[in-house]
Amino acid sequence: MRNVVIIGSGCAGNTAAIYTARANLKPLVVGGHEAGGQLALTTLVENFPGFPEGINGPDLVENMKLQAQNFGAEYLHAAVTDSDFSKRPFRLKIDDEWMETCTVIIASGASARWLGLPSEQKLIGHGVSSCATCDGFFYRDKNIMVAGGGDSAMEEANFLTRFGKQVTLVHRRDQFRASKIMLDRARRNPKIRFLTNTVVDDVFDASEKLVTGARLRNVVSGEAWDEPVDGFFVAIGHIPNTSVFKGQIDTDPEGYILSKGGARTNIPGVFHAGDVQDRMYRQAITASGAGCMAAIEAERFLEAEGH
Ligand code: NAP
Repeated sequence: MRNVVIIGSGCAGNTAAIYTARANLKPLVVGGHEAGGQLALTTLVENFPGFPEGINGPDLVENMKLQAQNFGAEYLHAAVTDSDFSKRPFRLKIDDEWMETCTVIIASGASARWLGLPSEQKLIGHGVSSCATCDGFFYRDKNIMVAGGGDSAMEEANFLTRFGKQVTLVHRRDQFRASKIMLDRARRNPKIRFLTNTVVDDVFDASEKLVTGARLRNVVSGEAWDEPVDGFFVAIGHIPNTSVFKGQIDTDPEGYILSKGGARTNIPGVFHAGDVQDRMYRQAITASGAGCMAAIEAERFLEAEGH
């Protein structure tokens, strides 16, 4: 039986591991299918405080993991496949085996939704990104493309005009899911060019490990063409990783955990940290802060229970 099991090994999970390990709770971190979380998919991170020259995303999460391990955190290269929070101790199925724990910190994140093109997957971190705040800076005076038609796409496109020469927003329909205010703001921005009824069929050039262009197709006329582009941002939504807690942990309709204040979920002893609850900020530093909060709450919960 564990004191605390942390689900997820991104910034939130690793920070929760550092804090709970230093509190001598010997945490177990279940790394998940996307070990290291979204930072493991990025290159240079320039906005995490403490690194004046920036730090590579994979190095940053790996350092956090090593830091947690130095204090006794244990990591499992496995995934939680089922959960039972109906009684205490809580039960988690890790790969094929059930395990008992007094507290749980859910830091399983939200995965960016991708278009699903093979070339797109190969170019993630090499010109393909799902985070303008993280990577926009690298595209000063460059041509940038953004895929999507919701608020995220409008927000990212607007943000990217601070850097890029031109931002082309590609959307598969001619109606937008984005709110009027966000859409109007993007429409008023002279640096944003809209391509509607248009889908992306390919991103070049996976063989060079560098984005050089995209193949587009108008779904009404059927016309296909290639456009040169230096950065390709996918903003078609995120999927919170909460399916294994369905029916037990309260979530909003899209699956994001509903916070009951601080790091608390609807089940006392089960805490949330990071993007699995946060659809607003989604930053490495905010996820780390949330991991710290969840760890402190888990520690206090255990103390109050006499552990
Ligand atoms: P969203 O509202 O679900 O929009 C996703 C967009 O991506 C839609 O336009 C959708 O097209 C498109 N899309 C989905 N799958 C696609 C695919 N396979 N290929 C091409 N296009 C695809 O997601 P979101 O923009 O991330 O927003 C999520 C939530 O956060 C919303 O509630 C939003 O209001 C909120 N948000 C708010 C702000 C803000 O207020 N500052 C900023 C960001 C997000 P279709 O329309 O054709 O389905």
